Amino acid sequence: MTQQRIPVPKHVRILPEGVAISWQDGHETLYGHYDLRLKCACATCVGEWPNQRGIDVRSVPRDVQAVEYLTIGNYALQFLWSDFHSTGIYPYRMLRDLCPCPECAARRGKAQGAPPEKTPP
Ligand SMILES: [Zn+2]
Ligand SMILES: [Zn+2]
Repeated sequence: MTQQRIPVPKHVRILPEGVAISWQDGHETLYGHYDLRLKCACATCVGEWPNQRGIDVRSVPRDVQAVEYLTIGNYALQFLWSDFHSTGIYPYRMLRDLCPCPECAARRGKAQGAPPEKTPP
């Protein structure tokens, strides 16, 4: 068993400077509003599989802010943004993977180890 337990947010706060999450394991993360909005992976933002194109950054206002959030089941958060976008779901695992703190960056670097092998087409 090498699989990591997925941490669960204990508190989510929407602050002027970003979205702050306190995790159950004691970790704290602050995401910039704009950065988090750009990570939206819903079909409206990135297109339907298999025609995913990636988010169009020009469609997102620089001063976008999260205004509200919902808890989806026990695995994800959904944000309502000031640009009225609300279909994006952010699974906890993804949120934790997005944590920009040096500690998590170091852990991700270590976990990655060798670059993933690319299978030729
Ligand atoms: Zn979206
Ligand atoms: Zn972190």
